[in-house]
Amino acid sequence: MKELQTGWPQNIKKTKPREWVLSVFENAQKPLSAMDICSQVEKNGGSVWLSTVYRILELFVEKGLVIKTTVMNSDMAVYELNRYQHKHYAVCMSCHKIVTMKNCPMEKFVPKLEDDDFHVMGHNLEVYGYCRKCSTK
Ligand SMILES: [Zn+2]
Ligand SMILES: [Zn+2]
Repeated sequence: MKELQTGWPQNIKKTKPREWVLSVFENAQKPLSAMDICSQVEKNGGSVWLSTVYRILELFVEKGLVIKTTVMNSDMAVYELNRYQHKHYAVCMSCHKIVTMKNCPMEKFVPKLEDDDFHVMGHNLEVYGYCRKCSTK
């Protein structure tokens, strides 16, 4: 198991499975599903139930440590460390591959809201289609 690079967050109680999950996130190059995390923990020599992973993810999201993105009408959710970066993804409808978007089409978008006092904190964007591999099939 790799050492954590950033240290343990103060507002979360430290347990072995939580440590394992965080370590997986720190070494991830892309957003991960709960299943990905589960199998990566096992590859690293740990062992954790999928249901435990879900509970840990819920906690991490609640504490702002991890960002959850739901794609394809919430059929699938992926998670990544909250590095305070703003990113969007496109998902392949066939193989569920996730492709990082290089821009944000909403950057200059000012929503017209009925509620004048509504404070916008962020947005979610769903982009889907077929990746290169699947579109040439
Ligand atoms: Zn694909
Ligand atoms: Zn955006």
